[in-house]
Amino acid sequence: MAQINVRRLSAEDEYPDLTGHNHHMASAMTLDIYKQLRQRATPNGFTIDDVIQTGVDNPGHPFIMTVGCVAGDEETYEVFKELLDPVIQDRHGGYKPTDKHKTDLDPAHLKVGGDDLDPNYVLSSRVRTGRSVRGFCLPPHCSRGERRAVETLSIEALDTLSGDLKGKYYALKNMSDAEQQQLIDDHFLFDKPVSPLLLASGMARDWPDGRGIWHNVNKTFLVWVNEEDHLRVISMQQGGNMKEVFNRFCTGLTKIEKLFKERKHEFMWNEHLGYVLTCPSNLGTGLRAGVHVKLPNLSKNAKFEEILKKLRLQKRGTGGVDTAAVGGTFDISNADRLGFSEVELVQMVVDGVKLLVEMEKKLEKGQPIDAMIPAQK
Ligand code: ADP
Ligand code: MG
Repeated sequence: MAQINVRRLSAEDEYPDLTGHNHHMASAMTLDIYKQLRQRATPNGFTIDDVIQTGVDNPGHPFIMTVGCVAGDEETYEVFKELLDPVIQDRHGGYKPTDKHKTDLDPAHLKVGGDDLDPNYVLSSRVRTGRSVRGFCLPPHCSRGERRAVETLSIEALDTLSGDLKGKYYALKNMSDAEQQQLIDDHFLFDKPVSPLLLASGMARDWPDGRGIWHNVNKTFLVWVNEEDHLRVISMQQGGNMKEVFNRFCTGLTKIEKLFKERKHEFMWNEHLGYVLTCPSNLGTGLRAGVHVKLPNLSKNAKFEEILKKLRLQKRGTGGVDTAAVGGTFDISNADRLGFSEVELVQMVVDGVKLLVEMEKKLEKGQPIDAMIPAQK
């Protein structure tokens, strides 16, 4: 780790005002930690001020509890662990610095079911994760050249996929505004860099250079390049067959990892953090398995939040993380990423969503659901 010695102003002079901030970074940060970490930088020159800028500029979020910090490279989590360990512990249900993460990308380990979520309620199913390419800085800190190198490497690797997964890359800079907007409206593409979280973290620099989307013909297997992570790998389709979605996700992702390895590029991974990603909230599996589901009655029930918490599920609006739900249709997904395997998280979503739909049907008939409320998972 590099040492930074020349400082004109003191830590007290530079310490951010975090009063009224509601995120994990603000809970973990103290002047002492700041003092200590200000002396350091990662080998790529990422500093504690770079780590926390997004949390300093964004005191909170209307719909989710944010973490308030990002990584600029793989080493960030080690160099700034005095801050990031408590953030990770806070965000990931007490996950300790000595804990080990498990990976399971074998869809055969999913229990029976998962292919039968009621399509009258479950409109679409999706599984996504992120992957970072070892040796390159992450989006908050990468240079233009590094970003382009990740893009070139991704196109080379993805272009060799075949069969169902055969697809094509579409660079953002070659797309018209209307084409982009259509893909966003159809839920296939990341938003334009409008989110203050994205802007403040430095991830929107040089937009749209080096960004794009690769997808197969049916748009059931998609890879976002250089948004919040080097890669976001997504499997999705209409209806409630989460098993099929997860199967395609595992097959495609495993192939992609192999293709990168063949090109002498590994993904960032370690035993403790699992897959290393830009946002500490995504460490571990990076996996968000979710459905768009109609719950107009249940969502009006006073116990809705409590039920989601008990099932370890999270809700969002269907337009993405920055949107509120409209018309009783929600994006329901696993709340955890770290400490559970991919299979375990998808299982939680399948079991949980099944129960939510059963509750919704009861409420439709004017029947009570209290006896159906589960114990804390
Ligand atoms: P992510 O976790 O992938 O960053 P966001 O909340 O930012 O998710 O949403 C990204 C896009 O993916 C949005 O357009 C959103 O509508 C779409 N999306 C998320 N989940 C689903 C789903 N289950 N079905 C269809 N589209 C989805
Ligand atoms: Mg997102």
